[in-house]
Amino acid sequence: MMTNDVLYRIRDLVVEYHTRAGILTAVDHVSFDIRRGEVLGLVGESGCGKSTLGKALMRMIQEPGRIASGELWFDGMNLMQLPPGEMRKLRGSRISMIFQDPMTSLNPVQRVVDHITETIRVHQPQTSEKAARARAAELVDRLGISRNRLDDYPHQLSGGMRQRVMISLALALRADLVIADEATTSLDVIVEAQFLDLLKELREEFNLTILLITHNIGIVAELADRVAVMYAGRMAELAEVHELFERPDHPYTRGLLRAVPNIRLDDAELYKMPGSPPDLVSPPPGCRFHPRCPDVMDICTRQAPTFYENKPGHFVNCWLYQEREENVSLEEASS
Ligand code: SF4
Repeated sequence: MMTNDVLYRIRDLVVEYHTRAGILTAVDHVSFDIRRGEVLGLVGESGCGKSTLGKALMRMIQEPGRIASGELWFDGMNLMQLPPGEMRKLRGSRISMIFQDPMTSLNPVQRVVDHITETIRVHQPQTSEKAARARAAELVDRLGISRNRLDDYPHQLSGGMRQRVMISLALALRADLVIADEATTSLDVIVEAQFLDLLKELREEFNLTILLITHNIGIVAELADRVAVMYAGRMAELAEVHELFERPDHPYTRGLLRAVPNIRLDDAELYKMPGSPPDLVSPPPGCRFHPRCPDVMDICTRQAPTFYENKPGHFVNCWLYQEREENVSLEEASS
C-alpha cells in the first residue's frame, strides 16, 4: 500500500548492462521511497550505480542496458506498465532531470526561449506561442536570468545560467520530481553556492521533490532531508540527514564521512578508505563491501545482508545489525 506522503516507490529494482565481459548489474535489488516535498540525497563513489538509478527512475536506460526487474510506482502509477508514449508525456511534465553538463541536454542550435516554449507547447498544445513566451520570460526572471537573454543560444550563456535554464524546463510544467544528477559538478564554488540557494528557494516556492544525486557529501548536508548511500549497485544505508551524519551505522558510510575534509582536523587525520569498488560484472560474494570492510565477519563473505530498518526511519544493509529479531524490512515497514 502506498501512503500519501510517498511520491515515488521503488521496489527490488535491477538494472543490467550486457557487456563483452558479461552482465554488469549496475543496480541490484534496490528498494526505497521518495517522499513528497523532500530532498533526498543519493551519494556514493563513482560507478556505484547512482546515475543509472536516476535514469531508471525516468525509464531512460538505453541499450545495451535494461531494467531487468522491479517495480516503479510514481504517484500511484505503475511506470513499468506504462506504454512508451505515456512515459514520454510523464517525462518533463511530472519528472524532470538536470544533468551535470546541460550542453548535452540543450540543443545548441535552439535559442533559450525555444527550449522553454517547445517544452510547454509539446505538453500543453492549447497554449499559444505568445502565452508560452510570456511564461518563459517570467520563468527566467524568477531564476535570475535577464529576459533579454531569452534569444541567446546555449553556448552564449555561462555554465550557471545553463543550469538555470535546465531548471526552468522542469518548472515550466511544474514537474513534481526533479532528479538532479551531479548538477553542480561543472560549476565553480561561488556559482554552485548560488545554484544551491536557488534550489532551496524553488523547493519551498514550488513544493518540489528533489532527488539529489551527488558524490559531494557537503552538498547533501546543505540541502537534503534524508540521505541514501549506495555501494556497488546496492543500497547501503538510508536515514534522516542528521541521523546519518551523527550516527552512521554502515561501515562504508562511516568511511565516506571520515574521508570528507574537516576544517577542525589536520590533513594528516583525513581517512583514506582502503581498496576500491568491485567490478560489477563479477562482484565479490556476500556483502560487496567485505573486501574493504574493517568489521568484516565470516558470514559477510558468504551471504549478502538485507536492507533492514535498524532504528525508526534508519535502514542499513549490514550483518552487524541483522541478528536482531525486532528488525523490520523496508517492505514490512511500509505495508
Ligand atoms: Fe562489513 Fe559485514 Fe557489514 Fe558488509 S555486512 S559492511 S562486510 S560488517
